[in-house]
Order: sequence, then C-alpha cells, then structure tokens
Amino acid sequence: MKDEVWKIAKEIEKEVIEYRRHFHMYPELGFEEVKTSEFVIEKLKELGIEVTPNVAKVGVIGLIKGTGGEGKTIGIRADMDALPMQEENDVPYKSKHDGKMHACGHDAHTAILLGVAKILVKMKDKIKGNVKLIFQPAEEGLGGAKPMVQEGALKNPDVSAVIALHMADDVAIGHIEVKDGSFTASADKIMFEIEGKGGHAASPHETIDPIVVGSHLVTAFQTVSSRNTDPVNPVILTIGTFNAGTVYNVIPRTAHMTGTIRALKQEVRDATFESAKRIAEGVAKAFGAKITPGIKRGYAPGYNSPELNILIKEATSALFGEDKVLLAENPTMGAEDFYEFSENNRLPVAMFWLGIRNEDKGIIHPGHNPKYDIDEDALPLGCAILSLTALKYLTS
Ligand SMILES: [Zn+2]
Ligand SMILES: [Zn+2]
Repeated sequence: MKDEVWKIAKEIEKEVIEYRRHFHMYPELGFEEVKTSEFVIEKLKELGIEVTPNVAKVGVIGLIKGTGGEGKTIGIRADMDALPMQEENDVPYKSKHDGKMHACGHDAHTAILLGVAKILVKMKDKIKGNVKLIFQPAEEGLGGAKPMVQEGALKNPDVSAVIALHMADDVAIGHIEVKDGSFTASADKIMFEIEGKGGHAASPHETIDPIVVGSHLVTAFQTVSSRNTDPVNPVILTIGTFNAGTVYNVIPRTAHMTGTIRALKQEVRDATFESAKRIAEGVAKAFGAKITPGIKRGYAPGYNSPELNILIKEATSALFGEDKVLLAENPTMGAEDFYEFSENNRLPVAMFWLGIRNEDKGIIHPGHNPKYDIDEDALPLGCAILSLTALKYLTS
C-alpha cells in the first residue's frame, strides 16, 4: 500500500506545488477565504468528490466514500487562512495581495490536503469506510474550527478521529516530529478595567492613581505561575497592553489592560483566571480603586492521541524510514484551534509537525516572519504520510 501511496504522491508533486504557489500568491485572511474556497471546491469536484461548501462561511468539506467495504470515517483537516502582514521574500510566487501573506504555511496545508484527495480517490478500493477532507477557515485567532463543528462537520457520516499536520520551521526537511499527549496551549484574552480617581499631578493625595494600581496588579500577577501553580504545569499570564493617561501632569481616572493566559491543562487554565480575579480584587481593595476583570475564551489546550500517533509514526517509518520520525520533547505554548475537532476530548485527534527547514536553500525563518518560506520538497511527504495514516486507521 505504501508504495502505491508514494508513487501517486510523486506523480502529483508538481500539481501540489502549483496549488501551494497559487494559494501563496493570493492569500486571504480568516473567514475571507472566498477564492481559496472556490479553488478547493473546483479541484474536489474535478475528482468527483462529494462537496459541502460554506461550512462556517467559507469552509469546505469533501467526502471520499471508500469502495473497499463498510468502516469508520476519519477526518483530515487543513487550515486555509493567511496573516495580515507584508511579505519580504523575493520569489516568483510572492504574495500579490498587499498586506497579506501566508507566513504560517497554511497555503501548504491546503495544497497538501488537495494532494491527499487525489491519492485517496485513486485508492478508493482500498478504503474501508470514508475519509472526510476538512478545509477550515480562520485558524489565526478567529476560530474557524468551532463553527465548523457546530455546523455538523463531524456528522453524517460520523467522524471517529481527526488528523492534521503543521509546517515546522525548526524541523529539518524529510523529518516529522510527533508528540503524545499535551501539544499546544490554551489561549484566552483577559481584560482589566481599572477605575481610580483623577486629579492634578501635584495633588496625588486627592486621587486614586490607576497607573500605580495597575503597576501593582502587573507585578502581583507574576506570582500566579511562581506561587499559585504547580511548577510542573506550565502557565503564562502576560499583560500585553497597559493604557492610561493623555497628559503628563494629570493623574488619569482610568487605566485599561489586556493580556493573555496560556496553559496546557484545562484545570490550570481555569485556576489561573480565578487567581487573576482574586488578585485584582485584593489590589483594588488595597488601593480603594475598582477593577473589573473580563475574559474572552480562545482555543482549548491541545492533546494528541497516542493511538493515532502510533499510526502516524508507522506510516512515516514505512514510507521513509524510522529515522525520519523525531519525538518532540516539549509541547508549545502556542495555540491551535485544530483541537476543537476533538469536541472537548470526545474524539481522538492528532497533529504532527512536518519539517520544512533547509539551511542550504535559505529556508530558516520562523512562522509569522515576513521572510517565512517552506522547502516544497515537504509537500509530497505530507501528502503521503496523511494518506497512509488514514488508510491505516480505516483498516485498524
Ligand atoms: Zn500561525
Ligand atoms: Zn498555523
């Protein structure tokens, strides 16, 4: 089976590279992936795949029904959105949309999933059950996965596992990196509105200075991870904005802060915000100010199924050799909304890193960098690994 997968992956390599370059040249931001979505639909229809368009606005689902017998349904997910930044690469496929760039490799993810579609359609007779191709909008912060799930992406037929890959700028080309269990962090936005009492800078005793209150708050927050959380459970509480005042000799009435909480465990995520609220209440009381905390929930912590990882490792080893499988030592404190497809850990899901780093080609820049690019030799590898993993899952 693996030889057939790799043979087709090599046959379609040029097309997949063309797709990737096309997406790279015409990047679209989250929930605005109209042309990307149309392109995906057209390619899936050419392959005779049943398509459901407009899931979560511009998301697309393709269903490949196997002819090898009844069986389970596995989902394979790709995200399609670009970032609001200016590309600084001088390449023939440079972004043609000013201020927009595929700097996280989602152009490659989408192209690879189209390649997977081509491979699996040709191998339909080997598929027991179905493969659902999930093209998701808006991964970069806006959260396209959740509305796709809410609109039935995992239903009819019911999906029993979902896999995905992500380009890895720190993993050498030809390799993948896999990690069981905890893989990505949650990412919530927090807000604090501090209300004091404004007045003349020369009469601070007649005011409640929200800048001083806020400064104490930021300092006190530093004890959340050092003194409130078990040190073996990583957590981040970062204040990213602190705005107050407009005039140098006036004590303002209010200050406004926003930040982020990131954690690898749901309990830690919840406990951290509780700690932050408690500290805010205490600081407010101590200074006679009023602090109103707020939270906007973002992505949940990501957990990779060890069972699915076994299949990913087996597929990669069979195709390219055991030495191509690296084990990631640590999770990342970055977040991924891919894990929404687990429906709060109801379904096993797994994402792996696909190496795209190649110093000889100058591919050394990290994701979200204006010089980010990928080694396109990774594209057929990604197509083959996802396809073979899916085939293995459906026969396991
Ligand atoms: Zn990104
Ligand atoms: Zn990404």
